[in-house]
Amino acid sequence: MNIDFKKLADEFGTPLYIYDLEFLRKRYKELKNAFEGSKSLVCYAVKANSNLSIINTFAQEGSGADCVSIGEVKRALLAGIKPYKIIFSGVGKSDEEIKEALELKILMINVESEEELKRVEAVAKELAIEARISIRVNPNVDPKTHPYISTGLHENKFGVDIDMAKRLYIYAKNSEYLDPVGIHFHIGSQLTRLEPIAEAAQIIADLVRSLKAINVDIKFFDVGGGLGVVYDDEVLINTQEYANAIKSAIKGLDLTIVCEPGRFLTANGGYLLTKVLYEKKNGNKRFTIVDAAMNDLVRPSLYKAYHKIELVQPKEGELSPTDIVGPICESGDFLGKNVLMPKLESGDLLVVKSAGAYGFTMASNYNTRPRACEVACENGECRVIRKRETFDDLIAAERLYLKG
Ligand SMILES: *Cc1c(COP(=O)(O)O)cnc(C)c1O
Repeated sequence: MNIDFKKLADEFGTPLYIYDLEFLRKRYKELKNAFEGSKSLVCYAVKANSNLSIINTFAQEGSGADCVSIGEVKRALLAGIKPYKIIFSGVGKSDEEIKEALELKILMINVESEEELKRVEAVAKELAIEARISIRVNPNVDPKTHPYISTGLHENKFGVDIDMAKRLYIYAKNSEYLDPVGIHFHIGSQLTRLEPIAEAAQIIADLVRSLKAINVDIKFFDVGGGLGVVYDDEVLINTQEYANAIKSAIKGLDLTIVCEPGRFLTANGGYLLTKVLYEKKNGNKRFTIVDAAMNDLVRPSLYKAYHKIELVQPKEGELSPTDIVGPICESGDFLGKNVLMPKLESGDLLVVKSAGAYGFTMASNYNTRPRACEVACENGECRVIRKRETFDDLIAAERLYLKG
């Protein structure tokens, strides 16, 4: 849909996150439809954008949720995701989180180590129930993405290797309190090549075959998330080819395909709108200082991630490179480097694109900056889905420690 950024800035102020719900629905349907002909469950990875209205948009489409904390599980439920479509993943879950997840009767807990499997068993025993689990297997394939967001190599902290996985499945099968219903892998994020995913799917499908042979009856084949999106000029994995590669890997096996896309569903449907405060020059170096900063969108600072930045209302004038930076007291506080812009002045609006994933969810209050307002747009209408924070919100949980 066409978004009137100027009008939104006037109405809601800046910095402002804007989400196009029509785009989000379209992406969900595209992926869901690609799995047609197979049993499938798309579980939106809530950590990408966990605003209740965003999760609810996917819930309306029939989506499940992939959660990495009990807080995310509760958000998903509150936003209307059915408990039997919720997966709880993550490398470190506390006993309390495991207990709550079991009591909430979610689809399965995704276990990442032997220790954790034993913890889940102990908690399930206390509750006198059988815990549905899947095991995250690390297939040791190189996803060819940024090392910070690569997770499928043995050198990464995630999952267990194939031999360990076999042992754990046998243990779980023989336990009164564990029901191993799923298998899981997730090799990384912002993947733009199909081969590593196809290779991992083959490896894991072979493992499923050998498990079925010893009567471990896996039902859910969880291929994780990681589908890449366009930030710059990336060539993306074709969704139909992606689905086909997975279908072909599990040929002959009776499995429900589960996938956990986060970024793919939300990144390109989100925008961060910011206002120019002023420009300055240090020697020959040009800086444009804006009212959004690394506390609003940390990806450029954290991963050197690139986001396209555009002027909302085009201006005349010669283009020259400028670093678009925030007001935070850190040299690493930038949104874009060497961006070609005409001379800008106070009040000009810039829009940072592809900001719908890992944008607001990674925002902080660093420098006592209130987090931005979030609005969602659909059918030509935009509504606030999270109010701009106030100074009072920021200090609400603090107490003055007074002596004497
Ligand atoms: C982060 C994560 C996802 C989502 O990753 P995207 O790159 O946003 O698709 C899915 N599954 C697991 C286990 C994750 O940790």
